[in-house]
Amino acid sequence: MPSVIFKGYRIQRTVSVSQTYSEAKVEAVQRGAPRCTACGSLQLTHYDSYERRIKHISDNGAKYLLVIKCKRYKCKHCGRVFRQELEGILPYKRISERYANMLVAEYNKNVCNKTIAHEYRVSESTVERAIHKRYSQKLKEQLNYECPSIIGMRAAEQETSNGKGMYEEYKRTENNDETDEIRSDTGV
Ligand SMILES: [Zn+2]
Repeated sequence: MPSVIFKGYRIQRTVSVSQTYSEAKVEAVQRGAPRCTACGSLQLTHYDSYERRIKHISDNGAKYLLVIKCKRYKCKHCGRVFRQELEGILPYKRISERYANMLVAEYNKNVCNKTIAHEYRVSESTVERAIHKRYSQKLKEQLNYECPSIIGMRAAEQETSNGKGMYEEYKRTENNDETDEIRSDTGV
């Protein structure tokens, strides 16, 4: 059997292996000491354990159902009970972020939603949600990028007018506090 790796998870037992879809029991590898999500305290006790069943893609590209053993902690300081965070898996989701990305990648290859849903063993609405999320994220990124149009224009002018002249002039016309802020924005 080829060695299967899931970043952030340790395999406890491989339940079944097939060309198309396998199943494994894993444990999340804790990175650093967990902190209370409410007060940040490191003084925690293990409250209980539970399982999450997550569809995931292994590091070598195989589809897997992971049965993940997860922990809940209780904070000794404030009493809060909270769930361990999992790498690459959002709370309440049944597919990993990588799995969602694969659904979108298939969609981008013009595979129809019904086929993707069938091959990846998810519902069509899961496929639709993944696509929608990806594209609304992209749109947001574009909007954020285009938003400071005036600053953007000046930055562009500054770049193309080889040198300080225009930037110095621009700096004089602005008050200093604002200039600092704008400089850090355009420096990206
Ligand atoms: Zn706490």
